[in-house]
Amino acid sequence: MSAYTIINPTNAKPVQDIHLADLFETDVAIEKADRAFQSWRHVSPGDRAKLLRKFAAIVEEHNEELAQLEVLNSGHTIGNARWEAGNVANVLNYYSAAPERLFGRQIPVPNGIDITFKEPLGVIGIIVPWNFPMPIAGWGFGPALAAGNTVVLKPAELTPLTAIRLGELALEAGIPEGVFNIIPGKGSVVGERFVSHPAVRKIVFTGSTSVGKHIMQGCSAQVKRLTLELGGKSANIIFGDADIEKAAAGAPGAVFDNAGQDCCARSRILVQRSVYDRFMELFETAVKAFRCEDPALETAEMGPLISATQLERVREFVPEGAEIAFQGNAPTGDGYWFPPTVLTPKNTEDRAYREEVFGPVVSVLPFTDEEDAIKIANDSEYGLSGSIWSRDIGRAVRVSRAVEAGNLSVNSNSSVRYWTPFGGYKQSGLGRELGPDALDAFTETKNVFFDTQN
Ligand code: NAP
Ligand code: MG
Repeated sequence: MSAYTIINPTNAKPVQDIHLADLFETDVAIEKADRAFQSWRHVSPGDRAKLLRKFAAIVEEHNEELAQLEVLNSGHTIGNARWEAGNVANVLNYYSAAPERLFGRQIPVPNGIDITFKEPLGVIGIIVPWNFPMPIAGWGFGPALAAGNTVVLKPAELTPLTAIRLGELALEAGIPEGVFNIIPGKGSVVGERFVSHPAVRKIVFTGSTSVGKHIMQGCSAQVKRLTLELGGKSANIIFGDADIEKAAAGAPGAVFDNAGQDCCARSRILVQRSVYDRFMELFETAVKAFRCEDPALETAEMGPLISATQLERVREFVPEGAEIAFQGNAPTGDGYWFPPTVLTPKNTEDRAYREEVFGPVVSVLPFTDEEDAIKIANDSEYGLSGSIWSRDIGRAVRVSRAVEAGNLSVNSNSSVRYWTPFGGYKQSGLGRELGPDALDAFTETKNVFFDTQN
């Protein structure tokens, strides 16, 4: 029997012990989900929709409880945590409209009728990281359940509390036993078993690119379906003709939100040389005003890092002698605190510039013109997100078409809406989540020809 002691990252104090599932318990849960699939897939579309709406309503009723749990377990600011719990309810409501709309097609053929069906896959294995425990779980289980699949979900070892609670709320909503199963445990045990167990028909993984590649390799043995949401090194591109005040005011939140532990973090700021000095002046004021404090405070804009390990990883990106332009403030003392940090690397070979830091560290680099900006932005193995700031509509269109990334925003840093697709180019991922097409990722298309001549 092994257990994991959850640590509150704000003060490094233990919160509670969580039992970690072993291989046997994982198999039992998968088999339970497999049996539940046989009845869940046949629940009528209207009834499945009602159950998902009920689930959404119960999550909404428990918004504050779930948010407080996330502050305790993950050190998220209370404002963010409320949004995250709200996002789960929104995703459930959005996909609750799917069961009655899971249309196939009727395709004209001679001598018969041809129809396509969207069939559920079976058991879906969802592997969740610690950076956004609630939303990332919901982006998987919302559409998966709506399409008639059952789910086994492994939260990150560090952050299982809200997932466990969501599992209980699902039962309270009347989602049948075995349909939605939360299995806290280690990636190397529970996660690996999702990949190797033949009853799990698809993996939805969010996390590091290296583990994502390993999972992709594992899935090949059974040609297992796979969605990957991996790392990012997104560019925030600020042109000379932009509203520099707005761009600078928004830039701290675009990278330091969730203490930079966000795959969409705009961790490379590219600024046109003509406005570089002006931008840096405004950016410094904004960074120093960014409120990194006890995440339970309503005013908090940033909390601690998730763990001592993550703090160590982030520190390594800012060694003695690093090109620090300026830093913001952070509490000292217990807890895994690291201040917002702005680097001005000499070149693009700098490690903090190239690699995903997953902490409150941003690199700023000047560029000369549009072509240069696009070239620098695309010089990355990642391609998840990014922003383009310009008042020139033609330029905004050209650059947003040229940047190789799945989620861009123009004169804005917002990249996530539950009703628009989300996912990465290049090594940032495979497939898309959210939006109107997410159901395709949780169904097989079956084509049936009915011969009318016999
Ligand atoms: P990670 O190892 O990729 O963890 C993500 C999830 O995968 C966790 O639930 C983890 O379980 C599980 N896992 C780990 N090894 C596995 C395996 N062999 N098979 C199946 N599942 C496995 O991420 P991390 O180590 O926590 O973070 C490391 C770095 O990854 C971060 O610094 C950041 O750069 C990146 N990251 C990116 C995202 C993102 O949203 N794109 C999210 C998190 C981390 P355990 O909790 O038991 O390890
Ligand atoms: Mg890991």
